Amino acid sequence: MFTERLKNLTPYVPGEQPQDRRYIKLNTNENPYPPSPAVADYLKTVDVDNLRRYPDPLFTELRSALAQRYGVETDQVFVGNGSDEVLSFMFYAFFDSRQGPLLFPEYTYSFYPVYCDFYAIEFQKVALQGDFSVDLDGFLRAGPSCGLIFPNPNAPTGIGLPLARIEACMDSYPRDRVVAVDEAYIDFGGESALALINRYPNLIVARTFSKSMSLAGLRLGFALGDRQLIQALYTVKDSFNSYPVDTLAQQAGLRAVQDRAYYDRITARVIATRDAFSADLKRLGWFQMTSSANFVFTGKHGVSGEEIYLTLKEQGILVRYFNVDGLKNYVRVTIGTEEEMAALVAAMERYL
Ligand code: PMP
Repeated sequence: MFTERLKNLTPYVPGEQPQDRRYIKLNTNENPYPPSPAVADYLKTVDVDNLRRYPDPLFTELRSALAQRYGVETDQVFVGNGSDEVLSFMFYAFFDSRQGPLLFPEYTYSFYPVYCDFYAIEFQKVALQGDFSVDLDGFLRAGPSCGLIFPNPNAPTGIGLPLARIEACMDSYPRDRVVAVDEAYIDFGGESALALINRYPNLIVARTFSKSMSLAGLRLGFALGDRQLIQALYTVKDSFNSYPVDTLAQQAGLRAVQDRAYYDRITARVIATRDAFSADLKRLGWFQMTSSANFVFTGKHGVSGEEIYLTLKEQGILVRYFNVDGLKNYVRVTIGTEEEMAALVAAMERYL
């Protein structure tokens, strides 16, 4: 009844979305603030009759708004059902391990190996540097590879890479192999590789509406890069599902992209809360990595990440821990509202 393919799948496990009780939810890097009011206004006045029609398979309006927002041409933009889908299309389109393994950091977004298994792509993990930053020179030293993918800032560490380092890596990496930078968290303080896409036709950047745009539930992600790379993603999409992004998502996403002032405001607020939380961690003697994202990777000597997670869960606060060698002493804490972080800090002081 079931294929060998299916038997060999080990799916990605997303963070908990508990339905049983109300938690202070700091475990899946969602935004604590609502989406732009323009999104709500649109959804209140949706012309439901229009849902008889299929959505625009080219995402024309949303693509051109994104192109305008990021200073690129419309045919340099691809849109998908969350950046997870966009990333999976990239794996399918660009990475063929007959040319060598795909390289990504040892500790990173745990969906990458899942896509590799799904598409039968061999991969090799490259150790992080001593300070836990992504080792781009390590990618170059690793020998022939069919491509590179890494988040900037990395997850779950939150550590960002300077643009100059990415540029140096691009200069040394073969031009016929794709380098994908997953910029899910870039708006919270990273240096975007977007500035380089017109110089390197083998560079592609993935972005999401789920974090800084506060629209994780709408499922929208996009890619920016050379038009040939973007065209390849359309080929994958149209071989799989012509309509992965529904009409409501396209239209609501458009409203969000156009309200830059609102998003600049809530992003600044998340960053300020993160910096205050980092100072609290320091005061409490917790160790932490310097974050350029909307989460902080932290821990306390003598207590495992799992213990921290369980203790906080009992207090009604959800964070994420990773049952992975090398990361067991940490938890990843999403930045919530000022009030939520104050409740967390109080719980840490009291119970840990
Ligand atoms: N990349 C990274 C590094 C992430 O942490 C996430 C969130 N789980 C994603 C991509 C995917 O986000 P989404 O599918 O919601 O756009």
